[in-house]
Order: sequence, then structure tokens, then C-alpha cells
Amino acid sequence: MKIYIQPLSVNSHTVEILKKRLPEVFKAEVFVLPASEISLKCYNPSRKQYNSTCLLRSLPPIRVTLAVTGKDIYATGMNFVFGEAELGGARAILSVFRLSTADSKLYEERVVKEAVHEIGHVLGLKHCKNDCVMQFSNSVEDVDKKPISFCRVCASKIGFG
Ligand SMILES: [Zn+2]
Ligand SMILES: [Zn+2]
Repeated sequence: MKIYIQPLSVNSHTVEILKKRLPEVFKAEVFVLPASEISLKCYNPSRKQYNSTCLLRSLPPIRVTLAVTGKDIYATGMNFVFGEAELGGARAILSVFRLSTADSKLYEERVVKEAVHEIGHVLGLKHCKNDCVMQFSNSVEDVDKKPISFCRVCASKIGFG
């Protein structure tokens, strides 16, 4: 499995976290694509946020492409989202905008959890009610409560364990 990280207006520290941690989780090769600026065509000036679906569609449809941005993103019907992914598809996007904290260890855990969650969707996993990284997160408190790993049911669905 290959994971292509597409930095979109995000700091290099966050990219380094993913480059270091994702290979351990997925036994994947991780490649970092050249950083680019987030597309203004996906910006909604009245909300001061970027549309996650618009950003997703602007990515190359190569499995697994994970865009990471420091900008705030939203999906239709939601105040904000931490990310969006194509279920069983190729592409995902993660926003770290609402994950920030002065605690660098906690920040790293949050970033990895949400990246693993979005990649889980790309691999075909839906939201899960078990003690599992695939739990839906409505707030950063939800992110902190869930584990960084897949439950046994989800792990077996994607061929782990
Ligand atoms: Zn989700
Ligand atoms: Zn699960």
C-alpha cells in the first residue's frame, strides 16, 4: 500500500508527524508530494472556510492520496469537519485547524488519529461504535477520547490481524 501526502497550506511539522507515524500504522510506503497552496476556488468567503468536497475533487484520484491542510474546512450541512474521504475510493483530506494545542504530544496523537480515520474510510470502513479510531468525532474532545487503533472488526475488514 502506498500513501501520498499532499500538503495544502500546512506547516512542515505536521507533515513530518504523518510521514513518521503512518508507515507504522498501515505498513505502507509514505510519499510526500510537493507542497502547494490551497485552492481559492474552494473558499467560501461568507463562512471563511474551505469546502472539503471541493478540495477532495481537486486531488489526483490515486489511491491513497491524503491532503493535509491547516485551513478550516466544512462540508454541506456541517459547521466544520476534521476531514472527508471517498469511501472505498482514492482520496481523503484532513484539516488540522481545530486540532491545535500547546501540548505537542497531544497534537501528534490527534493528527495521527484523524489521518488514520480518513484513510480508514478510503479503505472502505464506515463509522464504528466500538472502541475504535473509526468512531465519528464531532469535537476535539471526541478525538481525544477515541483510541488511535482500529477495533478487531474494522482491522479484519481491511485485512489487518
Ligand atoms: Zn469519518
Ligand atoms: Zn471499528
